[in-house]
Amino acid sequence: MKNYLDFGKSIRERTARILAMLPPPVQLVAAVKSRTRAEVQEAMEAGVTILGENYLQETAVHSCPETKHRARWHFIGNLQRNKVKRAVQMFDLIETVDSLKIATEIDRRAGEEDKIMEVLVEVNSGREPQKSGLLPEEVIGFVAAVADHRHLRIRGLMTMGPNTDNPAELKPCFACVRELAERIKAQAIPGVTMEYLSMGMSHSWETAVAEGANLVRLGTLLFGPRPARGA
Ligand SMILES: *Cc1c(COP(=O)(O)O)cnc(C)c1O
Repeated sequence: MKNYLDFGKSIRERTARILAMLPPPVQLVAAVKSRTRAEVQEAMEAGVTILGENYLQETAVHSCPETKHRARWHFIGNLQRNKVKRAVQMFDLIETVDSLKIATEIDRRAGEEDKIMEVLVEVNSGREPQKSGLLPEEVIGFVAAVADHRHLRIRGLMTMGPNTDNPAELKPCFACVRELAERIKAQAIPGVTMEYLSMGMSHSWETAVAEGANLVRLGTLLFGPRPARGA
């Protein structure tokens, strides 16, 4: 991967340059885990409108008055069942739904909040045992099983893809997710849309965009290398 500094010396410069490079309708989700409030604000001043958060306890820090209502919030972390209630309250879109248990809990909690929770279904497109997400062949059955949940609306698919910057390895994974979305769209399931394809991170976003992503989730490229957790 190119060095993040190739995109500019400051968060502001890098964010502006990357936003200018994204062809419409691709939208940038700034992955803000372990970043400070000031860093997140700098990215927003450069034009970021969607923030992606992995940890609910950090979200409380980031959803300060300056950022809370000026951004859309996407949950992109691993969602545990006991955190679903807060996630439903705090986020506009949950990108990482990959089990019936979590989907049913989201539906129940969203019902309590009188909210319709928009979600993406996470796909383990690289078939990696350590990664979350449904295997590609499980996705269509899952969507059909969840489609009648009244307080949950499936709006697309999300994937991480393998941890490589080799386009030859990434491309078939992203293409597989795009093809799944096309097949689901063709089924015209009531209440299910395939508007969002969230694929691509700092090492993989160019390949993801070439394969049809319209949401890219970038952290390192905007903010630089992550500090060690707990630092
Ligand atoms: C951290 C994270 C990203 C961004 O990763 P970078 O490699 O820093 O761009 C994207 N998606 C998810 C789900 C993440 O947790």
